[in-house]
Amino acid sequence: MKQCNLSNDDILELTHDFYKQFDSYFFKKFMGVFKYRKDIVSFKNYDGGGTLGTCYELLCASTSYIQILRDHNIGDVTTTIHEFMHATSFSINPNHLYDPNKDFLSEFDTTFINLLATDYISQNLKTEQIYANSFNALVDHYNSINSAYILDLIKDEDITSNKDLSSFIKSHEANLEIILHYIKMDLPFYLFIYSLPFIFAVELYNIYKTDKDKAIYLLKKIINANCNSKEEYYQMMLDFGLIPGRHLNTYAVDINKKVKSKIKLNIDGVKMT
Ligand SMILES: [Zn+2]
Repeated sequence: MKQCNLSNDDILELTHDFYKQFDSYFFKKFMGVFKYRKDIVSFKNYDGGGTLGTCYELLCASTSYIQILRDHNIGDVTTTIHEFMHATSFSINPNHLYDPNKDFLSEFDTTFINLLATDYISQNLKTEQIYANSFNALVDHYNSINSAYILDLIKDEDITSNKDLSSFIKSHEANLEIILHYIKMDLPFYLFIYSLPFIFAVELYNIYKTDKDKAIYLLKKIINANCNSKEEYYQMMLDFGLIPGRHLNTYAVDINKKVKSKIKLNIDGVKMT
């Protein structure tokens, strides 16, 4: 992993500049949080193989606290931008995170921002390494969704031997080794809170690329929505034209071009054209 020598202040400055060029409404809301950065943001060093970020939203105090465990790779920047989006959305509508009807997509807005931040950082820091991170995330999301899907199907099956399991998984055009790896690592459960929002976020990202105003209008609507049921929220996303999976292949092809085939694609079931 390529190291990045950015200081904590550099990361905060890049985060600020990203939101400034993103949109005036969101920048204003972001600044409402960012102005307290000295009190609410904590950076620590971490050597665990990847940046970790957390945003704690305290409903009782209408305040968010952000902790970034720095791995000194470019992910430190995108993670900081991501966590600030949690805090910004919380300042716009605390229910966006606390509404149990919306929590299955609680990483939607932040994942969308990650996709934009990736482009922004790539252009500004002239690094394509960041797209390798995106590519790895894409593979994880794909395998996580596929593994969760297989697990869901398996519970209704009468499987009594490894042979049964193997042929069942193969019959669904899945890769046994990959599925077992993800299941053993508990990854479908850990990643799914990100993977499901990811396939919706790719759709908003796709709209953003041709109609920025529309994408921002939809993002505001989604954050401000208070829903009576999960079904209502899901239907609202579909009504907004966010059909999960519709542009996933386009996105995958795009990312693959950006990493310039340095990484060989080998994902069962993902059609690359
Ligand atoms: Zn998050």
